[in-house]
Amino acid sequence: MKTTEWQYLRRTEFASLAEQAAVTVIPVGSIEQHGEHLPINTDASNCHSIATRAAESIDSFPVLVLPVVWPGYSPHHMVHPGTITLSFDTFVRVLTEVAVCVHAHGFRKILFLNGHGGNSAIISAMRPKLSAEHRIAVVAYTYWDLPGVAVAWRSICETDRGFVGHAAEIETSLQLYLQPGRVVMRDARWVPGVYGDPTLATREKGERLFDAAVTGLIRLLRDYHSGALEKSLEWTREVPTD
Ligand SMILES: [Zn+2]
Repeated sequence: MKTTEWQYLRRTEFASLAEQAAVTVIPVGSIEQHGEHLPINTDASNCHSIATRAAESIDSFPVLVLPVVWPGYSPHHMVHPGTITLSFDTFVRVLTEVAVCVHAHGFRKILFLNGHGGNSAIISAMRPKLSAEHRIAVVAYTYWDLPGVAVAWRSICETDRGFVGHAAEIETSLQLYLQPGRVVMRDARWVPGVYGDPTLATREKGERLFDAAVTGLIRLLRDYHSGALEKSLEWTREVPTD
């Protein structure tokens, strides 16, 4: 079985993967409250699972998924127990230094895949920061912004349409599919820190939402590997990619 997770490789395996222009995915999550019914690793679990499933599904070129960056930027959740947040500057430095290390080992296709709304603006800003300050080209997406996902999800969800409510229909459905033993549906209800209606979540919806996100990521990874993605982005004319 092919290895798609960075953490399970041996040091002798990296050079040839870099030569094959492997796309590397850095999943970025959070450890924060998700109501009274979901585990605090919900965001990390969702984005890491989408990344690994997509990587396993692609045979025409290698895709490597790094261990999830599990603390995100979640100061707004600190009023609830269990939340672990980095400060803004630390979070930016962690993301920067992980990308710099991946680049140092010869990888030139680096994708941040984010799973937490509070990280979105910071993740997006990593592209100009890394290009200007480190001459490293990356792309950054939050999983619900992947190609085709919003349209696909609209036909699946009853309430979370065009907006991913915190610990609501989408995140709860995904977790019912990915970590069913860690979801307590009898505690699923609106409480402070929940935005939306988690009672509408089902495992079946979760599987369909997950499959649509994986499909979107596969599409993005193929375009990234072929060069089509960079061609569609203006910054390739400004940023060296070597
Ligand atoms: Zn979340």
